[in-house]
Amino acid sequence: MYLVCGGAGYIGSHMCKHLHEAGHEVVVCDDLSTGHAGALLWGTHAYGSIEDTEFLRSLFSRYQFDGVLHFAALSVVAESMREPQRYYRNNVAATLNLLRVMREFEVNKFVFSSTAAVFGEPQARMISEDHPTVPLNPYGLSKLMVEQVLRDSCRAYGLRAVALRYFNAAGADPVARIGEAHDPETHLIPKLVRKALGEDLAVTINGTDYTTEDGTCIRDYVHVDDLAQAHLLALDHLDHAVGMHSFNLGNGTGHSVKQVVEAVQEVTGEGLDISVSGRRAGDPSHLVAASKLARSVLGWAPRYPRIVDVIETAVRWHASPTYAAWMAEPPGSEVSCTNHDAIGAQSNQYRHG
Ligand code: UDP
Repeated sequence: MYLVCGGAGYIGSHMCKHLHEAGHEVVVCDDLSTGHAGALLWGTHAYGSIEDTEFLRSLFSRYQFDGVLHFAALSVVAESMREPQRYYRNNVAATLNLLRVMREFEVNKFVFSSTAAVFGEPQARMISEDHPTVPLNPYGLSKLMVEQVLRDSCRAYGLRAVALRYFNAAGADPVARIGEAHDPETHLIPKLVRKALGEDLAVTINGTDYTTEDGTCIRDYVHVDDLAQAHLLALDHLDHAVGMHSFNLGNGTGHSVKQVVEAVQEVTGEGLDISVSGRRAGDPSHLVAASKLARSVLGWAPRYPRIVDVIETAVRWHASPTYAAWMAEPPGSEVSCTNHDAIGAQSNQYRHG
């Protein structure tokens, strides 16, 4: 049985689907601060925050977890520049709390959502795991700090941990049961897709003066199901590997912002008139993964290497009635959650003290 922290969120909910399909029992811990109740389709939901030590202790007393997968974090670069303390509190302090309770209950298998933002401005065309880590923003630094905590904890307490450094997560469940639903949305692909589907969204290209071929930032977009698959492989890896291991997860192909605009036009058949604005603070010029290690050590093989296929799943999701229903729900709403069984009710007690 696995605990998925942040399992109502974008990547966490795809993780729950993969764990369930692989035959694992799942408990989701999520306070629905950014996640959606409608995403709680697999496993049992415990409503609460990983900042709440007593809530975590109750959860760990109730269930015997084989390991923890941790997705509960803030992840918007620009927001982290404006509100750094919120990022350090949420992403670092709360994770320390979770690790403390794991140690109390002798749960020692941990898979951590890390990010390509730990690297900063790349010094090579393809970024491998041993690339220097000099984050340009508090978001990336908060994730790097946790990686260091994990490394030390593995050495000192016998924790076994994998940090998976996602490049740009994109796409959705191919049959549109779950997907990305942020309000406001800041990420490039969902913004462009929503605009192409007729939403009145202001989308601009953030800077055309980077030292890239067309002057716009290059990113490596990787399908969310491929990311979730890598976590399953990481859990298998931790059955025999001790210590702390970091892996880069990307397709190894870079797409500029302008190329992404073109790809969304190609998939949707809609012309997009996108203007140009200045650079966004904290953005490195290009981030492309050399993910050889994940392929050779974990046996990871992404199923969506082509960006148009990734975008196609995003289009199907954003055009779906499920997406519309999620967006119509007030934030933090639990009304559409169908699996509030014992632990759901129990966790509501924690919520109200
Ligand atoms: N971007 C853009 N316009 C937008 C949103 C994003 O030009 O409306 C750019 C952004 O500056 C970055 C790239 O698209 O260079 C990917 O940004 P996103 O926010 O999707 O992911 P991030 O790389 O920040 O994790």
